[in-house]
Amino acid sequence: MNADGKGESEERSEVEVLRDYLAGTLSEDAKEELERKLRDDPRLRRQLADLILIDALFNLAASRPDEKSCRGVRALFAEYREGRASAGETARLSRHLESCEACTKAFEDRPNPKVRAKLIGLFVGLLLGILLGFLLARLF
Ligand SMILES: [Zn+2]
Repeated sequence: MNADGKGESEERSEVEVLRDYLAGTLSEDAKEELERKLRDDPRLRRQLADLILIDALFNLAASRPDEKSCRGVRALFAEYREGRASAGETARLSRHLESCEACTKAFEDRPNPKVRAKLIGLFVGLLLGILLGFLLARLF
């Protein structure tokens, strides 16, 4: 029995839609509909925030088995960018990046830029909406 009386399948498909949204695989129509819902539904916004947090934790966990070598490789990033890494270090870096998604992301330093830009736009929109509502409430 479901205590809150809500349909489980409805709940699950909502999460799936949010996951697709984060993965950037939603159609334009579905994306617009979801963003409209997100603006009106604080519970859904919290759910999205939870998913983002879970993804971040998952990425952290995924990079854990290799933690020591990851730290060593990341210490080389700056040297490599400035062209000061030796041939051996450069080889170690590129070999590690081939097999380590977390470090590749860190090296490129742009995790999910499209989704992040979308979310920033969404929150700016929310803020403007709140401000507008506040102004209107004062005017009338
Ligand atoms: Zn790594």
